[in-house]
Amino acid sequence: MTDHATVFQERVAKAAEICDLSPDLPALIGSAQECLSVHLPLRRDSGALEMVPAWRCRHNAVLGPTKGGIRFTSSVSMDEVEVLAQLMTVKCALVGLPFGGAKGGARVDAHSLSAGELERLSRLYVRGLSSIVRPDKDIPSPDIGTNGQPVSWMADELDRLLGGHTPHAITGKPIEMGGSKGRKEATGYGAYIAVLQTLARLDRAPMDMTLAIQGFGNAGYHLASYLAQEGVRLVAVSDSQGGVYDPDGLNPERLRQHKSRTGSVAGATGRGRTVSIEVDEVLSVDCDILAPAAISNVIDETIARAIEASLVVEVANHGITPDGDSRLADRGILVLPDVLANSGGVIASYAEWIQGHHGEVWEESRVFAEIEERIDSAFSSMWQRMREHDRSLRQAAYDVAIHWLGRAMVARGILPKSS
Ligand code: NAD
Repeated sequence: MTDHATVFQERVAKAAEICDLSPDLPALIGSAQECLSVHLPLRRDSGALEMVPAWRCRHNAVLGPTKGGIRFTSSVSMDEVEVLAQLMTVKCALVGLPFGGAKGGARVDAHSLSAGELERLSRLYVRGLSSIVRPDKDIPSPDIGTNGQPVSWMADELDRLLGGHTPHAITGKPIEMGGSKGRKEATGYGAYIAVLQTLARLDRAPMDMTLAIQGFGNAGYHLASYLAQEGVRLVAVSDSQGGVYDPDGLNPERLRQHKSRTGSVAGATGRGRTVSIEVDEVLSVDCDILAPAAISNVIDETIARAIEASLVVEVANHGITPDGDSRLADRGILVLPDVLANSGGVIASYAEWIQGHHGEVWEESRVFAEIEERIDSAFSSMWQRMREHDRSLRQAAYDVAIHWLGRAMVARGILPKSS
């Protein structure tokens, strides 16, 4: 089984070769520039003290301050944080943002914490990792297990530590804390723009397309809803509790209402004879577009053999395993890689960062325009490279990103001019 860290090096090496960059580049960015590992003394409501392992990794700061989420999950590890930080470096470079990649986490099940415990842990995280988490050095945002509330506590704690107001220090904040309009919709909107671009290149009409989505959370719902406006028919959807399939179509808004009433999409009805499906069955239903929008590593080699879709939109970071990716390529299934498909989120974070820096308040339409412009531009470069150099769209994304990053490393004198 090939792991994400190994294929990262391989993709960077291929990109460096085609971009005529020094062969030292893969080694230089093969591991994180800086990783801090701490234990946070969390006082539980019961009075018990729990030492929570936590990390923050800054992968590469050549293009700018590092950027990436903080996750509170029971399975997060330093290795996971490091590979996700690598992914952020590629993502930011691909869409032309002046950021490097970072990621952080604390090993705790966020759902097991009371509100008070979550607040104490959020504040401890910022204090414990404050040598890294600093405005214009490393800018966190929410991720799995952290949302607007934990990051508000983090932002407040950082302001207390620094003795000032730093609205650009953390993104993904609620609007009243200096967050950006459009952030909630941004990831789904960006994936939608990338899908529209792909369909246009393939000369396929959205109205003729069917869609299946694994994970009907923030990103999955917004993607389904924007695509529905173009006439794409959602035929299957699942979340962690179950799923539904209806070849006549499911209405995203009605699904959302059903989920907010019952806690799951399971049991929802569509336009025809809706049937229940297992959580993972959604991946192999008959459809044109499949979007894994839940968790990492869901499409492995076995699932990749069973996929009926001709286009996979990898909304979840590392939604496809490296072996799954090779199998999809062998089968001629086009993959819109995570670094592009979910980049709308970090582009909106960039918009929030600018607003925080300059005391500006942008309208939602301006944030969406920023997302559209950056994704359109990255997509065009990727598509051209894919066609010219006969590579996967994912490798083409790495080519574009590494070309840009490599040029900055040459300009800084970190890399020699060419091999
Ligand atoms: P979310 O928590 O809002 O939704 C996740 C959904 O996945 C939920 O509906 C949950 O029930 C479902 N789910 C969890 N485990 C599942 C399983 N085994 N099978 C089927 N469904 C399952 O999360 P989100 O913000 O929509 O993010 C979705 C994915 O996109 C994540 O992998 C996230 O890392 C990635 N992503 C999100 C953003 C963003 O800004 N929201 C940005 C970049 C990447």
